[in-house]
Amino acid sequence: MDLNSYAELAVRLVNSAGTGGRDGDLLANLDGLRALVADRQHLNHGVTRNDLQALRALRAELGAFFASCAAGDGEDAADRLNALLIQHPVHPQLSGHDGQPWHVHYTDSGSVADKYAAGAAMGLAVRLTDLGIERFGSCQAPGCTGVYIDTGAGKTRRYCSELCMNRANLSALCAARRGSAASLT
Ligand SMILES: [Zn+2]
Ligand SMILES: [Zn+2]
Repeated sequence: MDLNSYAELAVRLVNSAGTGGRDGDLLANLDGLRALVADRQHLNHGVTRNDLQALRALRAELGAFFASCAAGDGEDAADRLNALLIQHPVHPQLSGHDGQPWHVHYTDSGSVADKYAAGAAMGLAVRLTDLGIERFGSCQAPGCTGVYIDTGAGKTRRYCSELCMNRANLSALCAARRGSAASLT
């Protein structure tokens, strides 16, 4: 797993609160947390109530980091991420499991929440230095608390998901229709 996919874990965690129109908070209970990490081999066993608590706190901290990025406040975003990097250090280990060539695992020790936090913070740091802070944003759809990392060529992304993009386009269309209907009367 490369560091970019660790950054994706950060986005996934913030968006687990239930982004626009999608079903509820995945961190409401342990089953939700299990679903959140089901596809990640290094995280998907042995989750506990402590992990749930810790990841809720981490979610709030990561959300604040994205909000600083979206506001263009690089100093604040860097301070927040630096605090997370100190609090949740990575522990790189060479691994050759399942007949794979030797590769580095960054977060093999500690609880599920420890591993999640260390990977997410390190992934974000690498992503941010690669892409620039303006690529990190908060969803513009009304009522959505989702976030995204814009990896597209055009730097045009504004929504956390296709669902939010479609919703926002639809409500803009409705507003335009209402506007033109009003001007006819
Ligand atoms: Zn591996
Ligand atoms: Zn959204």
